[in-house]
Amino acid sequence: MSYTNAETIALHGGSHRADPNTGSVAVPIHQTTSFQFQDTGHAARLFGLAEMGNIYSRIMNPTCDALETRIAQLEGGVAALAVGSGQAATAFCVLNLCEAGDNIVSSTDLYGGTWNLFANTLKQFGIEVRFADPADPENFRRATDARTRCYYAETLPNPKLQVFPIAEVAAIGREIGLPLIMDNTAAPVICKPLTLGAAVVMHSTTKWIGGHGTSIGGIVVDGGNFDWEKWGDRFPTLNKPDPSYHGAVWTQAVKPLGPIAYIIRMRTCLLRDLGAPMAPFNAFMFLQGLETLPLRMERHCENATKVAAYLAGHPKVASVTHPSLFTGEAARRAAILKGGFGSLMGFELKAGAEAGKTFIEALKMFYHVANIGDARSLAIHPATTTHSQLTAEEQAMSGVTPGYVRLSIGIEHIDDIIADLAQALDA
Ligand code: PLP
Repeated sequence: MSYTNAETIALHGGSHRADPNTGSVAVPIHQTTSFQFQDTGHAARLFGLAEMGNIYSRIMNPTCDALETRIAQLEGGVAALAVGSGQAATAFCVLNLCEAGDNIVSSTDLYGGTWNLFANTLKQFGIEVRFADPADPENFRRATDARTRCYYAETLPNPKLQVFPIAEVAAIGREIGLPLIMDNTAAPVICKPLTLGAAVVMHSTTKWIGGHGTSIGGIVVDGGNFDWEKWGDRFPTLNKPDPSYHGAVWTQAVKPLGPIAYIIRMRTCLLRDLGAPMAPFNAFMFLQGLETLPLRMERHCENATKVAAYLAGHPKVASVTHPSLFTGEAARRAAILKGGFGSLMGFELKAGAEAGKTFIEALKMFYHVANIGDARSLAIHPATTTHSQLTAEEQAMSGVTPGYVRLSIGIEHIDDIIADLAQALDA
């Protein structure tokens, strides 16, 4: 059966039903490096992509496949690739389209690690990242030239939490032949970027999908909705013969398998050459997280909206950032979130940066960690941690002010969450 509801897909979506050998309902952890070929012809067909199947766990693994097919279905895409971290997923998204001399246009509102990858490390590979302020979607068009290969943004970027105008920027890209790649890490279930026109979605599965703070991972979902062939020269990695695969042209070679050129090329070339596969054990952990993701998102969002209202009414709090409190254009943009406004929020204390640090140290139930999306409530001071490698100017551009405290609201009882915040504010 083909399901469309997130709650059902999270449990039943994708390729796995019951293990054909054992009947196991839970997806088995296929902790193996390699897979026995039936005969030499079978081996040759697998290597030649004449037949799809397992060869070696750097490139594919059945436990990872169960996760990939389930998340692809959840996001409304055609196929997915699980990798070792969210950072690897982002790097692969860009490297799959860019050669030295090319550029991409990225939103300024980014996770600090992505900012570093884009502003510094990709530069070493000869790939330029041009930053566009999403306040005006036309900034993306303005930054585009003939060597631009994609647009990149986060659905619900912290710390600003200004929801990205996905439909507007995707439409600009589609008009001139550029795919929009969305980091949907902070808005699983509540936003479906592919339905709004994005071509590719990635997640750090480390966060809400895993949900229990146990494993690092990432995934890229191919929407199968972008015509790479139509824009020929724009995408040489997909439309020109690939010398590493006997001259295969990816948009042609995999046509019989569906519109999966982008994700197949990422698997057969980037994962093969750069490594960074997801470990089967971690894929199993993410499958466990995924099963309750829609339920957890409901509680995360409900709790966060209540916390935002509580903090907004607190006499020691100067400002609160959470989409549930937005008005005007910011509220209009946040309306693409369905069923809640996410569980990230930020606030500033009237007494400033030092008070922010005292507050974090006074928290008893919240964990003080560099993570988000855990079932537990978490807090951090971004200026001195997650965003500390950015210059003061870069911090300001990405919305990090010295006194900003970031919260990732968990699924504990709301009374206990507010009691911990209250005692820390008293301190
Ligand atoms: N994208 C976002 C929005 C993130 O918050 C993070 C990590 O915090 C990443 C990507 C990178 O993910 P990972 O830590 O799994 O490499």
